[in-house]
Amino acid sequence: LFVDLDDFKLINDSLGHAVGDALLKEVAARIRRTLREEDMAARLGGDEFVILLCELGDDPEHAAEAGREVAEKLRGVLAEPYEVEGRRLHTSPSIGIALFPLGNEGASDLLKQADIAMYRAKEQGRNAVHFYLPSMEMDADERLTLENDLRRALDEGGQLELHYQPQLESGGQLLGAEALVRWRHPQRGMLGPGEFLPVAEASGLLGELGEWVLGEACAALSRWEAQGLTGFPLAVNISPIQLQQECFVERVEETLRRSGAEPTRLELEITEEMLLREQEKSIAKMNALRRYGVRFAIDDFGTGYSSLAYLRRLPAGTLKIDRTFVSDVHVNANDAAIVETIIAMGRHMGMQVLAEGVENAEQLAFLSERGCEVFQGYYFSRPLAEAAFVEYARERV
Ligand code: C2E
Ligand code: CA
Ligand code: CA
Repeated sequence: LFVDLDDFKLINDSLGHAVGDALLKEVAARIRRTLREEDMAARLGGDEFVILLCELGDDPEHAAEAGREVAEKLRGVLAEPYEVEGRRLHTSPSIGIALFPLGNEGASDLLKQADIAMYRAKEQGRNAVHFYLPSMEMDADERLTLENDLRRALDEGGQLELHYQPQLESGGQLLGAEALVRWRHPQRGMLGPGEFLPVAEASGLLGELGEWVLGEACAALSRWEAQGLTGFPLAVNISPIQLQQECFVERVEETLRRSGAEPTRLELEITEEMLLREQEKSIAKMNALRRYGVRFAIDDFGTGYSSLAYLRRLPAGTLKIDRTFVSDVHVNANDAAIVETIIAMGRHMGMQVLAEGVENAEQLAFLSERGCEVFQGYYFSRPLAEAAFVEYARERV
């Protein structure tokens, strides 16, 4: 685990090194308190800490899960306020995780991967945990090529497509779908968002990509309406860049108008992290779109900052339980408890609770017994190309 404190430099520069040092000591103490005996923690320098979790077993998925658990715990503990020399200070960590041995050959590789993952956590709004993926490490040349390819794909069209993953109630009736972007790259074949969203983000193309996705999703809705396929909303993932655009509300309304799609059939998925910055402005934009008929869902719920205080203020009708909790719900008591709590909370707040990443009947049973009513996952269907989705939907609306 590579841990870097957010805003430490600011604190150090503005309040002086004595305060900075005292804060670092308190951070170190909290790290030690959170770890097990057999784990190891070190300060690499500045505000960077490295933690080695040992004896996580041979199963990489299990190790990853354990790593995430510790990292999430640390994130919570380190984001608590600090009392330093009579002052109340706030910082939070950005944490990168890499697994050994997984495409790395020793300490320096492992450190580098965790460092890269930590940077990704910072990019995604800080106070976050991020796993290392090989695609993050594409060398500069390859990145540049992919960036140029993506620019061309956006200009010329024809390579990007949306796939649609059904959302159903346990009886099998279709209640909605989520649009997920794919890139049919002429040389590399079909790429998933994990393989090109980071490039899009790094090269400033994420906004443009998001506009394409929104336009295509609205166009699909109006095609379906023309074919008599109505009655369920289509969810679209919105990136932070889009929500922060001054003219976001107008853009969405304009896209809907141009396509002729019903605003009430469009659902925008946002994550809690997106609201950490420019909170008031973002909520105002959401309210404006809500008045226009657009719906909202909170994506990846449970992984982020989860502040009940402003969850209550959001005009969102749906809470999506993150698939990392769903995947272990019938084996891991902690995940089960989290999922139960989210379902109960969502229902008390009058929200529809949707579980993502449902892969088997055990998960489905656990979730429905506890009151979750909408499901999305491979157990029902993978994301489908448009023609296949339309066929699937026809039989289930
Ligand atoms: P997400 O919003 O959490 O989307 C769900 C992801 O989970 C999709 O991956 C989907 O294929 C996958 N998934 C669905 N059911 C299962 C399951 O049962 N098991 C497992 N293991 N996975 C399942 P995908 O399509 O690779 O998308 C990954 C992420 O990329 C999305 O996560 C979303 O954050 C982002 N993304 C996708 N499309 C767009 C887009 O158009 N715009 C933006 N801004 N982000 C997008
Ligand atoms: Ca989503
Ligand atoms: Ca999600």
